[in-house]
Amino acid sequence: MALSELLGTTFECRCGRTHHVPIRELVYTHDALDSLGDVLERCLGDARSRHAAVVADARTWEICGERAQEALQKAGLRTSRVVVADRGARSPMCDDGTCRTLIEQLRPVQPDLVVAAGSGVVNDLSKWASFELKIPYVVVATAASMNGYSSANVAPTVAGVKMLIEAKPPLAVIAEPTVIERAPRQMTTAGFGDTIAKHQSNGDWIMNSLLLGEYHCAFCAGIVSEIEPLYLDHPERIGRGEPEAVRGLFEALFWTGTAMTLVGSSTPASGGEHLLSHTLDMMAESRGETHDLHGRQVGVGTLLSAALFERVLAMENPDTGTFPPVVEEGVWGASSVASAVREQYEAKRPKLELLRERIRRKDLWDQVRTRVAAEVKPPETIRDWLTRAGGATCAADVGCSRQRIRSAILHMHEIRKRPTIIDVAWLTGVLPGALDDILDQWL
Ligand SMILES: [Zn+2]
Ligand SMILES: [Zn+2]
Repeated sequence: MALSELLGTTFECRCGRTHHVPIRELVYTHDALDSLGDVLERCLGDARSRHAAVVADARTWEICGERAQEALQKAGLRTSRVVVADRGARSPMCDDGTCRTLIEQLRPVQPDLVVAAGSGVVNDLSKWASFELKIPYVVVATAASMNGYSSANVAPTVAGVKMLIEAKPPLAVIAEPTVIERAPRQMTTAGFGDTIAKHQSNGDWIMNSLLLGEYHCAFCAGIVSEIEPLYLDHPERIGRGEPEAVRGLFEALFWTGTAMTLVGSSTPASGGEHLLSHTLDMMAESRGETHDLHGRQVGVGTLLSAALFERVLAMENPDTGTFPPVVEEGVWGASSVASAVREQYEAKRPKLELLRERIRRKDLWDQVRTRVAAEVKPPETIRDWLTRAGGATCAADVGCSRQRIRSAILHMHEIRKRPTIIDVAWLTGVLPGALDDILDQWL
């Protein structure tokens, strides 16, 4: 069955759960914007009597926002233009303050729905604000830069901490191939970094299911296997913006985001590799500095995760003597951030105790070594993919000094309660011992 047939359906899965795909339509065609009125009619019915707020930032308004508004007006909808303001010379970010401002911009307009025109930040802010206002949203995508279009979650910074907030996915994701192909190359390679992370994040997921007995869904974990050859067989085609490769990447981002929605958590597409990106964001934001794109940092995190998996899985009988260090307040700047981080870390401790015990069980560990090794990719492969696609491959590429990335790696395990390869690397003594070797060889 083609993946597109799953849109809008509910189905019984081999994992034992019933999955529901709330997104009704994925439109990736040259006349996608012209079809906006028809898409809304199919998704909502009686679309012409509705009032749509088109949300964009200054750049995405030019790219798609204005045309989206015209298409909606042509289809008979009432529309309002809502532009998310820049932060001085910098583009907007997705945090609680910006979302509040957007809600204040939307409230007097009283829209029936939000049409987001943009990528990461505009999509997340629109998803969050429309969820708070209890109205549906659809997104007109401007780049294949991340997998958040189809996820139910928003990943904002709240009081300095990278959070995951439950919201609702869009009714439809709409994109024009020429817009996505012409997006800045850094954004497309960021999307590539976010997508290849799934091999490593699934390694974390399988490891947690074997060692901690946690739920795992093979269907959701492997949802993009059939699309993968389009962008992974020849990653340089991503770098060149070739239509087939970019379409494959866009669809892979859509379906990995959907997998998170199906499972109800970020587990299928976000593991230890993502923690590096979140930590770098938090460290930069707490110092008022800028950071690189999510997916570019995730690509580098994926390389780190691969290097850690390689060393951990090479151990036949790991000794689990080392415990990850407790939260170090100074690293997190504000004490409110440190206490939020501490809460996550404390919630993880019982699982770490259990992991320490289970890793020592030879039968379990042998299974982990076989099944996880079959899923994760070696660091050579990850670096080759990233290099050929023209993505970021090392700390310097994402604007990090050795000291900054070193500090991020030493503290990234503190920010989330779900265990990952980072924790297992600590428990088995790979961290901190091999950190400098890994930095020298890979980052
Ligand atoms: Zn399932
Ligand atoms: Zn991501």
